[in-house]
Amino acid sequence: MPFKESSLIASVLTKKFGKVKIIAKGCRRPKSKFCGTLEVFTLAEIIYYKRESKDLYTLSDATVTDHFSDIRSSNNKVNAAMVLCEFFNKTLPLEETDTASYTHLFNFLRELKKIDSNSIKPLTFYYLLIALAGAGFKPHLDNCVRCHNPISYNSKQIDFSISGGGVVCENDFDDTVVFLSSDTINLLKNIYQNKNIRIDAPQFKEIERLVPEYLRYHLNQVLNSLKFLK
Ligand SMILES: [Zn+2]
Repeated sequence: MPFKESSLIASVLTKKFGKVKIIAKGCRRPKSKFCGTLEVFTLAEIIYYKRESKDLYTLSDATVTDHFSDIRSSNNKVNAAMVLCEFFNKTLPLEETDTASYTHLFNFLRELKKIDSNSIKPLTFYYLLIALAGAGFKPHLDNCVRCHNPISYNSKQIDFSISGGGVVCENDFDDTVVFLSSDTINLLKNIYQNKNIRIDAPQFKEIERLVPEYLRYHLNQVLNSLKFLK
């Protein structure tokens, strides 16, 4: 976010201290030593210090470790990287140590570098689903989320309640229910059980429709960058 004439305020996900807000003074001047170091999804080693009685830190030094140029050469990979950055920026509280989110974002960027263009979208949703679980919103898939009665997975279509955050039996049907195929439920289960999945599985199409609804309901968030992801 531009600040005053030449400065920038950035939201930075750090390995040791969670999400912090940092001001880089003079950063937007062409000869600034911070030029490019606070660009979105840049991995850098930084030194910053706290100003008294403010939540804002001041950047004192920065060295880029990885600029992820392989991602920047593809518009759609940039969109994908933005999705996870936006998710963490909008959902992580300030200054709470969260190594899992840091590692998750880093692993995603590393994998995104290498992946072919057809797999960008499902890979992004795969990482978004895991991030949702990390934020405490893992979908309930084992039995009815309301009454805990078993669900018949033999039927082709399973009722998934967005508001309930999981599958529901026919007695607990509500007006936020979406229909998912049993193959999609199985794919979700496999993702959360950390089993090997096919990133080109056709069931990702249903997941792509489910996740934005789910995010809007449970986290009150719309990820703008998701709209541009192809
Ligand atoms: Zn039920």
